[in-house]
Amino acid sequence: MLIVQKYGGTSVGDLERIKNVANRVAKTKDAGNDMVVVVSAMSGETNKLIEYAHYFSKTPSKREMDILLSSGERVTASLLAIALQEMGYGAVAMTGRQAGIKTDNSHTFARIESINTDTIKKEIDRGNIVIVAGFQGINENGEVTTLGRGGSDLSAVALAGALGADACEIYSDVDGIYTTDPRIEPKAKKLDFISYDEMLELSSLGAKVLQNRSVELAKKMGVKIVAKSSFSEGEGTIIAQEDESMEAVLVSGIALDKNQARVSLRDVPDKPGIAADIFTKLADEQINVDMIIQNASKEGMTNLGFTVPQSELVRAKKVIENGVDHEIGGADYDEDVCKVSIVGVGMKSHSGIAATAFSVLANSGINIEMISTSEIKISMIVDEKYGELAVRVLHDAYELDK
Ligand code: ADP
Ligand code: ASP
Ligand code: MG
Repeated sequence: MLIVQKYGGTSVGDLERIKNVANRVAKTKDAGNDMVVVVSAMSGETNKLIEYAHYFSKTPSKREMDILLSSGERVTASLLAIALQEMGYGAVAMTGRQAGIKTDNSHTFARIESINTDTIKKEIDRGNIVIVAGFQGINENGEVTTLGRGGSDLSAVALAGALGADACEIYSDVDGIYTTDPRIEPKAKKLDFISYDEMLELSSLGAKVLQNRSVELAKKMGVKIVAKSSFSEGEGTIIAQEDESMEAVLVSGIALDKNQARVSLRDVPDKPGIAADIFTKLADEQINVDMIIQNASKEGMTNLGFTVPQSELVRAKKVIENGVDHEIGGADYDEDVCKVSIVGVGMKSHSGIAATAFSVLANSGINIEMISTSEIKISMIVDEKYGELAVRVLHDAYELDK
């Protein structure tokens, strides 16, 4: 079998842990498998590098950031290869370029366009374990690019897909996907299985256990992911296409996204074109607007609220101040909000799920500031200080610990 394994930052967090990973890789190799191993930077390393850059500049150039950030993964890939070689195994470390990973040009958030697996295959045929530095590739000009935070998950899925691997195992410090972040709700339950669609919602809505783009790609390429812990044995959680015969669970999980900020525009003239104007200007600045809410108009004026990632609030504020301020009554900005989301494919065919959520939060004295729904999710913006409490009371209400 050809197995792709990915080890995240905590799993390679220090030299002892890299040694632990080497032992696990060796064990799988000894069982007669071919192996490609993708590694993240040591935990905290990427953040540290970002801080270093911010010491010199608030807006460091993205091209240079990519060269800087890609170094973290190279450290772990080479160390793991050296550890394995010392144990008597044939192992080769590769950067994204050496692994044949081609991306588009968007520095710090590049998309993988293709993978030339020739070099990897050659090394596998020689009996070597291939260790790939995650989170990186090169663009058409041969410049280093990175794949967005958490991007080593994407490297692993893309390689598993391109190589037609028999398994894609993603190792972290949790032994699978839980009904919610076990750090927030210790009663959270591990799931044996979760569908691509549900996992995609959970990751997109803040559960960082898997990068959302990696789940998207896994679905597109039909790569079955198994999420496991590098610190224990266990079956983990399978992320795959839902089976028609399976009974859809009503609610499979709850996610919390603290990286949210709210913008409220007061006294916006209620006339055609104004929303288009505001949101076009935001889009032109690549600001990701998430939830939007508009009140019924009163005397030709309305209030318009929306959320953006916290890191984009400063830029959003600039757009409002420079672009539309003269047309509206005023604007307020609030960083202390978060988004709580309930996800489940069963919502497609059941009613009352939203009603339960609203009353449970009301009973806990938590005010809902914004709501948005899709076929399989309900998201609510609440005051950041109530975010974790909201997760726990909702987890209880849908009996996810049962
Ligand atoms: P790695 O560094 O290995 O990529 P991450 O820190 O990105 O690992 O992801 C693992 C973490 O994700 C866990 O420690 C856990 O706190 C968090 N997490 C959030 N939501 C969930 C969930 N639904 N199930 C499991 N873990 C979750
Ligand atoms: N090291 C990168 C990050 O911290 C990529 C990854 O770990 O997947 O975001
Ligand atoms: Mg991660």
